[in-house]
Amino acid sequence: MRSIKPPREMREFAQVLSEAGKRCFLVGGAVRDYLLGRPVSDFDVATDARPEEVKRAFRRVIPTGIKHGTVTVLWKGLSVEVTTFRTEADYGDGRHPDAVAYADTVEEDLSRRDFAMNAMAYDLVSGILVDPHGGQADIRDRLIRAVGDPVERFREDGLRPLRAVRFASQLGFEIEEATLKAIPAALDRLALVSPERDREELQKILVSNRPSLGLRLMEGTGMLGLLLPELAACRGVAQKGMHVFDVLDHLYACVDAIRPDLVLRLAALFHDVGKPGAKVERPGEEPTFHGHEAISADGAEAILRRLRFPNAVIEAVCHLVRNHMFSYDESWSDAAVRRFIARVGVDAMDDLLELRVADGTAIIGRSVDPRGLEPLRDRIRAVLDAKEAFGLSELAVKGKDLSGIGIPPGPAMGAMLKELLETVMDDPKLNERGRLLQIAGKIKAKYGIE
Ligand code: ATP
Ligand code: MG
Repeated sequence: MRSIKPPREMREFAQVLSEAGKRCFLVGGAVRDYLLGRPVSDFDVATDARPEEVKRAFRRVIPTGIKHGTVTVLWKGLSVEVTTFRTEADYGDGRHPDAVAYADTVEEDLSRRDFAMNAMAYDLVSGILVDPHGGQADIRDRLIRAVGDPVERFREDGLRPLRAVRFASQLGFEIEEATLKAIPAALDRLALVSPERDREELQKILVSNRPSLGLRLMEGTGMLGLLLPELAACRGVAQKGMHVFDVLDHLYACVDAIRPDLVLRLAALFHDVGKPGAKVERPGEEPTFHGHEAISADGAEAILRRLRFPNAVIEAVCHLVRNHMFSYDESWSDAAVRRFIARVGVDAMDDLLELRVADGTAIIGRSVDPRGLEPLRDRIRAVLDAKEAFGLSELAVKGKDLSGIGIPPGPAMGAMLKELLETVMDDPKLNERGRLLQIAGKIKAKYGIE
């Protein structure tokens, strides 16, 4: 096990409280991660000083969580979260502690924490580690074990089972047997947790080394069915062709295969979530999943909204899901490449191609060579280099040009601009104001304009 070596600034920080007669412990994830030799960037401190006393001791203090006894101190380039010792608060509604109750000792504070590996305190002045629940032993054995009775602790706060799974995926630890067994009995409490808290943990599972590990634990304990029933419905949905997995194992494999970027991971996880709904079976024939990309995009949007993901994330994910079903071959005309770029957008192109490689890997169950997409990349590059990639903003005529020849603003004008865009995608040489206005004059009757 590694040693705990906080930066000098943290010791100096503790000195300030010590001179005021107060204790100062590093707690939580930082202690765990030092012992594991993982990088530490968040410093959580526990102290017997009350928030008002902390405010008096330091110059730059932000009352970030004053209701829970927490303030943030900006100190020599660090941002230190300082929380006054608390007792096990009462989670009457299974969501939030009802009220904050201060404790006298660090041991009391540690006993309210979730897992033994997270329930150690390092005295920043004496260098002594307080470890009443066997956290060091658990770290050595790579185990996640609830502090106290797991059934009780999980019923107190229904988010804890999801946190256990999150730590299992992040650290590659196992969940200790009694702790794991206690999860199903806490599902009704998990159902009460706010979507924002669920999202935080899900997000951490998804960007971990092997998200499938956490997702499988969620599935096995019933959490997947509760929080992501749309995914649970993909279990046992058999596929066709080259596919070696059912839809859910395919999604797990895809999420593992793609870079740990939140948008990419979410797109990988949900890219086929609409398949159960799109599946059509005929006796003696392989099933079909026509239109599943649109159903999947709608499904992903509903899930991500429910979990209160930011709009920008939702839009980016759904755009990738909606467009994941292209199949390039050399017979694509330049116009087809231009249309593809226009539909996907230059900014999303690399992500979409990455999704495609991960999807391919998850279909056959072994790595696909990303160079397979090089011919398409080359074609796209050629179009971009020739400045032949078009959107409405590159079109050589604008709405006001059309007004100039007597076309009133409105839906008809919008439709005409689109047709003109199509025209220049077929033949980029036509993207010139005079020629386009000429064409506009010819086609306007079709749009009911005299
Ligand atoms: P990370 O490195 O991901 O931040 P962490 O262990 O610091 O991991 P946090 O969510 O930041 O996790 O929580 C900080 C500490 O607060 C935990 O280590 C744990 O001691 C305690 N804690 C957090 N959430 C809970 C909870 N729901 N129930 C009990 N204790 C908790
Ligand atoms: Mg933390």
